[in-house]
Amino acid sequence: MSDTSNETGLSRREFLKAAGVTGLAAAAAPVSAMAAQDGAPQAGTMPKRKLGKTGVDVSVLGLGGMFDTINNQLLLKQAHTWGVTYWDTAEAYGNGLSEEGFGRYFARNPDSRKDIFLVTKVVPKQGLDYTAKLDAALKRLQTNYVDLFFIHGISGIDEMPAFKQWAADMKKAGKIKFFGFSTHTNMEDCMLGAAKLDWIDVVMVTYNYRLMHTPKMREALDACVKTGIGVVAMKTQGGGPVKTDSEAELKVAGRFLDKGFTDKQAKLKAIWEEPTITSICSQMPNLTILSANVASARDKTSLAREDVEVFSKLAEATRGDYCAGCGSICQGAVDGLVPVNDVMRSLMYYRDYGDRELAREVFAALPEETRARLLTVDYSHAEKACPQGLAIAELMRDATSLLA
Ligand code: SF4
Repeated sequence: MSDTSNETGLSRREFLKAAGVTGLAAAAAPVSAMAAQDGAPQAGTMPKRKLGKTGVDVSVLGLGGMFDTINNQLLLKQAHTWGVTYWDTAEAYGNGLSEEGFGRYFARNPDSRKDIFLVTKVVPKQGLDYTAKLDAALKRLQTNYVDLFFIHGISGIDEMPAFKQWAADMKKAGKIKFFGFSTHTNMEDCMLGAAKLDWIDVVMVTYNYRLMHTPKMREALDACVKTGIGVVAMKTQGGGPVKTDSEAELKVAGRFLDKGFTDKQAKLKAIWEEPTITSICSQMPNLTILSANVASARDKTSLAREDVEVFSKLAEATRGDYCAGCGSICQGAVDGLVPVNDVMRSLMYYRDYGDRELAREVFAALPEETRARLLTVDYSHAEKACPQGLAIAELMRDATSLLA
């Protein structure tokens, strides 16, 4: 199974510390031109889009729940008030604490549940009792059903057929309304595979300005559209294991500031330009980020074609900074000895999100023998095969020295 347990496996202690982490979020600073003086987004309504064949209209901005939702009830309230009504959580976020926080909100605001499109997910594991897992999640969430249930973090579509009957049974029991998976590894192949399964309703995938122009992602999106699969985007800022703050990035930031929004807000806007993407699931652990992202969603300015092209050029100019999640390529090139893109993701948390403890925790969740062999593997074939041209061996050394 995939790595997502690594990605999301915040301990309860770490989870409670995550509320102030700006790097998890899509926008690190509010923009005066888009936000009112008091920090609240300008008047307007949160746009909604139809989530594929579910037929449900959901907010284009979703609240990712990988933060201390228990002690940030006001933030939940504000998200709700501002129309951010797609809420995403997971058992793996704080070992159930994120779900507990959402549940507390629903208990305190009984009328709110009907407004919220509630999503949770469980990391697949051999021998797991998924019904018991779902029941426990519903209990923490203080609700009888979730609108959408994801198998969390698959890396290949072959992981899914085992869930076909179970998903149908859970729908029949009224515990879930819709079913699908999330993935940040081999996303495009997973999406193409999903398009062949008529029982997948929605997928949540890594999607950002770096991936939106690639022929394979376009093909995967088209396949989902044709078969009515709803697509939700995550990891939308395109951060990678190398942090450069390059001239090219600064230039892009300056360009968008002149237009009245940050490059981070513009990156969200670029994604909303793609009608196939229904919603952006964003980690927004504080009001500053929530406010900036809501302002971006409500703002009706469309990016010009040249603006979108600017991102395409930026992606090309900083190609070697980003791991595109095509794990089957590099993992195959090292005979499966190292899940390279899992290590890359740890580095991304460290360097792009600036969350050292999360990065170390994700890294530590790799099997001990995997960590032990990181510096002994020959990565030369993987480097040749890597479409991003990443200096894999050097980055594996960086990961070992920074995160071990
Ligand atoms: S091949 Fe390169 S870009 Fe793709 S997952 Fe591996 S390291 Fe990342």
